[in-house]
Amino acid sequence: MRVLLVEDDPMIGKSVQQGLRQDGYAVDWLRDGEAAELALATTPYEMLLLDLGLPRRSGLELLARLRGSDNRIPVLVITARDSVADRIAGLDTGADDYLVKPFDLDELAARMRAVVRRHAGRADPVIVLGDLRMNPATHELTRSGQPVPLSAREFALLQALLEQPGVPLSRARLEERIYGWGEEIESNAVEVHIHSLRRKLGAERIRNIRGVGYLVPP
Ligand code: CA
Repeated sequence: MRVLLVEDDPMIGKSVQQGLRQDGYAVDWLRDGEAAELALATTPYEMLLLDLGLPRRSGLELLARLRGSDNRIPVLVITARDSVADRIAGLDTGADDYLVKPFDLDELAARMRAVVRRHAGRADPVIVLGDLRMNPATHELTRSGQPVPLSAREFALLQALLEQPGVPLSRARLEERIYGWGEEIESNAVEVHIHSLRRKLGAERIRNIRGVGYLVPP
């Protein structure tokens, strides 16, 4: 999942970015609200982690502009401002959830998964397709009940495909899901991960549509 983190505190920004990258998220990190608005207009993010006290454009202002332009991206507000008034303002402006600093990275990841699930209209946290069961919360995949060990990037790639069975995703789209800015993209990385997934799950699981991309048959 590709995530935009907007946080002007260098310590917090760095630790959140590193922690979520280790969890297999592609995380881009920006430090002010104006840059964030530009990035959101040009990059297909699946989630926004938004600090409220930001230079150049506050988090609340950015959020109001997003919702005002009908942008429905899931937003998790992370902020040191823990007053009830700020919480209410954030939620009223269209945030999906709220986390007060300092917070535990595991709690952040759990809240992100919950927000994404609610957006996807899935009450059940497990994605099921045929004999495959994927649990994004625990990063576990089973096939006919047997665990299939996957790397963080293989997991992220397969999750993107399983979320939309039958819909082909281009190589560029898949790269966006598994890499953030500044992360070196190994050439043919998507092909390598697809090859590995096919080896683990069976070649018929992931179909290549020439010139279009990859899909999992529904
Ligand atoms: Ca701040």
